[in-house]
Amino acid sequence: MDDRQEMARLREEIEAHNHAYYVLDNPSIQDHEYDALVRRLRALETVHPEEAADSPTARVGGRAAFSPVRHVVPLESLNDVFTLEELTAFDARVRAALPGPVVYVLEPKVDGLSVALTYEDGRFVSGATRGDGITGEDVTHNLLTLQTLPKTLRGAPARAVVRGEVFMPKAVFRALNAGREARGEPLLANPRNAAAGSLRQLDPEIVAQRRLDIVLFNMQDMSGPWPETHHETLALMASWGLPVIPHTVFAALPPLLDAVARLGEARDEYPFDLDGAVVKLDSLPGRRLLGSTARAPRWAAAYKYPPEQKETLLTGITIQVGRTGVLTPRATLTPVRLAGTTVTNATLHNEDFIRDKDIRIGDTVLVQKAGEIIPEILSVTLSKRPAGAAPYVFPGTCPACGAAVVREAEEAAARCTGAECPAQRARRLAHFASRGAMDIKGLGPATVELLLARGLIETPADLYRLTTADLADLPGFAEKSASNLVAAIDASRQRGLERLLFALGIPQVGQKAAVVLARHFGTLEAVRSAAPEDLTALRDIGPAIAESLRRYLGSPQGAHLVGALEAAGVRLTAAQPQPSEGGRFAGQTFVLTGTLRRHTRDQAAQRITAEGGRVSGSVSERTSYVLAGEKAGAKRAKAEALGLRILTEEEFEALFD
Ligand code: AMP
Repeated sequence: MDDRQEMARLREEIEAHNHAYYVLDNPSIQDHEYDALVRRLRALETVHPEEAADSPTARVGGRAAFSPVRHVVPLESLNDVFTLEELTAFDARVRAALPGPVVYVLEPKVDGLSVALTYEDGRFVSGATRGDGITGEDVTHNLLTLQTLPKTLRGAPARAVVRGEVFMPKAVFRALNAGREARGEPLLANPRNAAAGSLRQLDPEIVAQRRLDIVLFNMQDMSGPWPETHHETLALMASWGLPVIPHTVFAALPPLLDAVARLGEARDEYPFDLDGAVVKLDSLPGRRLLGSTARAPRWAAAYKYPPEQKETLLTGITIQVGRTGVLTPRATLTPVRLAGTTVTNATLHNEDFIRDKDIRIGDTVLVQKAGEIIPEILSVTLSKRPAGAAPYVFPGTCPACGAAVVREAEEAAARCTGAECPAQRARRLAHFASRGAMDIKGLGPATVELLLARGLIETPADLYRLTTADLADLPGFAEKSASNLVAAIDASRQRGLERLLFALGIPQVGQKAAVVLARHFGTLEAVRSAAPEDLTALRDIGPAIAESLRRYLGSPQGAHLVGALEAAGVRLTAAQPQPSEGGRFAGQTFVLTGTLRRHTRDQAAQRITAEGGRVSGSVSERTSYVLAGEKAGAKRAKAEALGLRILTEEEFEALFD
């Protein structure tokens, strides 16, 4: 039997077991036997990736999770225009190509994630993401959690396929980020990424919590007679009960151009983020005449608004002290509405940034938010500078502890030198507990501040002595949350050296270096006693890291903390065994690109380094594998050009079998 025959047999067998298990609820095989079949099939699919499409290995729990779906009608992109002149030129092209009067429909360009929904006999049967426009992913289960998506339609024909945009309402996005901030988790950059990430969650319950919404803006396909115009198809869709995009019909260009500008000014009033306005030819026969280029229809144009900018008053500059003592200046602004949120702060980066832009307290500054959360200061409006505004003098002492502030030659950052600085201590503790470090759930920056203020902790080792009774009468703590936190702290004892080395906050030692060191040396003692040349012999460990480790682990404070953690029962050995003689990826280099859905990048990198492989940021002839997720762009293209081995996540996983 050749590989292909074996794959076909395995697939058939697995499908039959799936049917018995999931449909008949009567398993026909032991779990481990089933797992062995799936593993064997995955391994073969790695060798013959061209045969892997629509395989049971791509599904989770027997039901299709994100299996590929071919769109009945492609989900096209849009041509962008950036000025009203370009929009006028678009209009001229349309008029030149069509006989008779030209009518347009204007719609906001919703900044979300495009999906196609299929209704049969008025029932929602499936939904898919846009993907590359030809093939998307089946996200039916997740779409079912959208409250505003009708599951049944009134008066719809036998079959209708409609296209729209899934988005995270701005209010939900703000609430989600406020929660993340309180827990010390990294913030989501913008509602679009948040919506895309949410819709691709494997667990529909999480999707449901994200309160996504949808608006529909196109009829893709429909049985029965079609109207002649786009606005009538939208009216028809609305009559069936679908939430349809706000739209206006224009028979002449000048009022349309005015409306485009007004829509941009009214951005705040929409529940979704919008990054442009879409101008579409209303006549459907006219659309057919104009047709499409390879990428986008000729009958529509997306006018992209420039990022919103506003002037506001800079009323003060505060300094935040980070865990390594770096002082970061921040501008306090008179609150101003910008791109859908109220802006009250902007980062000023460092002393040089303030000096180069000559930013002074009392200045009127121009701020911009380019789709991201943290706004930036573009410039100072010198004509509005009040008399007597003095140049800003960067503090020479730490605002938190009063110790001297130093700035090394060649460094942009100024640092507090205080060994006992309370601000650094709080940040270090929060870092210790953070997700990439010891991952102690419920111990965000606010709780750390509270514990410090009550004198309950001073160093990370003190955390392990906390009892439910210590926490129960803290503000905001009930008995349950107190015991949850104690349990979370307890669980962190077993995280292993990979995380502990990072959690200690040793300057220069990032997550990657921590993993490399832990996996190579296995114990903290071995790292501590390693000669500098043994350290720098490892990939990714340079002299600066080696020196920083020596200093930290050799210092009385470092040694004391490590001793206290050990006494508290914190594991000082690697969680993953050292790779046996280099591991299976020894000498091989991986590049990760695109959005991964089965792993975080960290997890994928950890699995690779655990097996002795190396993760690199750039593709070259020396790259052994490129692990390409969704929307992999330039790196994937380069890998293809070089003829390198490109893996999907499934193929990547199969390498471990
Ligand atoms: P782009 O991604 O820049 O090529 O823009 C095209 C995308 O705009 C499409 O994939 C749609 O998801 C999205 N879009 C948002 N609102 C609309 C709308 N009203 N009409 C058409 N496309 C829209």
